[in-house]
Amino acid sequence: MSEPMKIAVVGCAGRMGRMLVSEVMSREGCVLSGATDRPGSDFIGMDAGVVAGKGESGVIITDDPAPVIAEAQAVIDFTAPEATEEHLRLAAQAGCAFVGGTTGLNETQKNAINLAARHVPVVFAANMSVGVTLLGELTRKVAKVLGDDYDIEIVEMHHRHKVDAPSGTALLLGHAAAEGRGVDHDEKKQAVRDGHTGPRPRGEIGYATLRGGDVVGEHTVIFAAEGERIELTHKASARQVFAAGAVRAALWTKGQPAAVYDMTDVLGLKD
Ligand code: NAD
Repeated sequence: MSEPMKIAVVGCAGRMGRMLVSEVMSREGCVLSGATDRPGSDFIGMDAGVVAGKGESGVIITDDPAPVIAEAQAVIDFTAPEATEEHLRLAAQAGCAFVGGTTGLNETQKNAINLAARHVPVVFAANMSVGVTLLGELTRKVAKVLGDDYDIEIVEMHHRHKVDAPSGTALLLGHAAAEGRGVDHDEKKQAVRDGHTGPRPRGEIGYATLRGGDVVGEHTVIFAAEGERIELTHKASARQVFAAGAVRAALWTKGQPAAVYDMTDVLGLKD
């Protein structure tokens, strides 16, 4: 029997962080080796398992990520873009595999993923659920088959606390559609419609963002033509699906060469 993999969770007091701690504690083949949250957080000094509602883990939450990442074999990060950038740098320095789910990264922060991936395996995905990973693959395939007389619209809804729009998952689906169609996503993206917009330009990839209540995450990709409409929908009702995918990704990094990966690699879906 090999030793359980040491996994650290940064941002462990957040909505996702708590789920991740709970998942690492209950999954076989891994052990929680460290946990952090932002400086000034009320949870510093508390047991990460207790904060996650899972009982004592023996891991005390700190606000100093460097030793926590140095001690771990993989670190899981669902925090905020600036924090993720810093954690990527620390993981690369320490030789620690990185699994990231933070959304809303700017270009510099996205580039930090590529820099870290020169040194360690980095799995990054705007949505870590098995269902959305499959939805992305289906979207790519359907977009490839259907020409641009099918208008692509992506509708998403999330809870009222979400800070970025469209969601990282909606953008992931838009990129999959653009890739399937063989077009440049950013050229075709239309995320804002207001006032007299004129008729819909052919080939546009449209986004509609809904926010409210406690919705965990719902996404529909619509292919609409004259006379018919195809809709592909995913509804997440519990954050646990993202945490389960992230821990699966962390375990998968063992023995992988340094590179950027996504969930299609982890699930073995790459063509
Ligand atoms: P949240 O606000 O509940 O949690 C974020 C946590 O990170 C907080 O505890 C915060 O204190 C902590 N944090 C912030 N800066 C930090 C720092 N410098 N060091 C350590 N901890 C720090 O948010 P959430 O709902 O858990 O979402 C977090 C991120 O994950 C968002 O970007 C969200 O869009 C993304 N997300 C991704 C997926 C996916 O599958 N990829 C799923 C759900 C959420």
